[in-house]
Amino acid sequence: MSLFESPLYKDALEQLEVASYTMSLDPNVLDRLKYPKRALQVSVPIRLDDGTVKTFMGFRVQHNMTIGPGKGGIRYHPNVDLSETAALAMLMTFKCALVGLPLGGAKGGIMVDPNNLSRQELQSLTRRYCTEINMIIGPSTDIPAPDIGTDAQTMAWFMDTYSQLKGYTIPGVVTGKPIAVGGSLGRAEATGKGVAFCVNFAAQKMGLTMGSNTTVAIHGFGKVGIPAAQDLHAEGVKIVAISDVSGAIYDKNGIDLQKAVDWVDSRRFLKDMPGATVISNEELLALDVDVLIPAAIDGVVTKDNCDNVKAKIIAEGANGPLTKHAIEHLSNKGVFIIPDILCNAGGVVVSYFEWVQGLQNFFWDLDRINEELHGILKRAFDEVCEAKDKYDTDMKKAAFIVALGKLFMAMRLRGLFPS
Ligand code: NAD
Repeated sequence: MSLFESPLYKDALEQLEVASYTMSLDPNVLDRLKYPKRALQVSVPIRLDDGTVKTFMGFRVQHNMTIGPGKGGIRYHPNVDLSETAALAMLMTFKCALVGLPLGGAKGGIMVDPNNLSRQELQSLTRRYCTEINMIIGPSTDIPAPDIGTDAQTMAWFMDTYSQLKGYTIPGVVTGKPIAVGGSLGRAEATGKGVAFCVNFAAQKMGLTMGSNTTVAIHGFGKVGIPAAQDLHAEGVKIVAISDVSGAIYDKNGIDLQKAVDWVDSRRFLKDMPGATVISNEELLALDVDVLIPAAIDGVVTKDNCDNVKAKIIAEGANGPLTKHAIEHLSNKGVFIIPDILCNAGGVVVSYFEWVQGLQNFFWDLDRINEELHGILKRAFDEVCEAKDKYDTDMKKAAFIVALGKLFMAMRLRGLFPS
């Protein structure tokens, strides 16, 4: 597949172009941002447990590194390809710029179903992939992190391999590591915590008091949805519905969250959890709640169902859960939409903290991490609201405009080499 072919790349390009035209961005800067700076495609051969050798395709794409080293996850999934990886790298450029991190955008991945590999095979895959891309990554050049199909253990293997290649321990080469090898406190729940912060900022902006009368529905009870639910619940808000791929549950008096977490821990899916009314995922999206948090997958609120949505605030915990049409339609109806590159940026912000702590070998306590995270997201939220008003546009385009404004300034100051 060529670079521009995937729907995700076309979509990312369209978002880039629309925001650029709205803010009258210098076309020379727009032209440069349409292409990744560097893309590496590698083969990753490993010996399977049965003694045979199997080769997988791997990728690492660095979209733009004007503001700092590349930052972005490593995905193990059968659908990974060069074009999708490049699109995700581009979105990382905008996410990092939006929240003001001194980092650029990158992404990597391997076309593989990790569920079909043993732990030993996954370790071999990760170590060989790291070896194949080690010449373009590093704590000052490009810093990977976990994504779909990878986790803290993957990062520990990756960091160990990179360190073996260089001859000394280099924790700053990846983030999302286990705490015991230089991970950061608060990283696991950072994305969900950021979502909860953003919901509070939006409620304040709308003059909505968050309390026991505030109702929230969460689509996707996973690594993002669970901590978001827990933080909002802790401040007294009522989580009336949650869902996963197996279906949704509803309780108008508020879901027993601890019970739901324990149930999912032991049974994997919410389905059959006693004591709550079973509804469908579609019904959850249409509930008459104050806040809807789509935190599962992309494309769940579309032109077909956006008219059913009754929430006053929608917090895009997932990447791209609302289609372009749904965003325009709901924004015009007065719904407050917190766009994904802002709403779920908590993860990359705390990844940045982990990188900083690793470089300094000085580790912060949780209070400091959460306080700094709050400050960064609040500043970005205010900037997006300001751009929304200035350009009379929706929050999604406004978020891109803020990100592009920062990138433009940096790119203009650095200039084009050779000029
Ligand atoms: P996860 O796998 O931990 O959780 C996903 C949840 O969504 C699970 O409960 C799953 O059952 C549910 N789900 C999957 N398909 C569904 C469907 N068709 N209908 C309803 N529910 C469905 O994943 P996660 O890490 O929580 O990521 C969720 C989203 O947030 C993804 O879009 C991801 O790219 C994005 N995101 C995650 C992070 C992070 O730090 N984890 C950061 C930024 C963005």
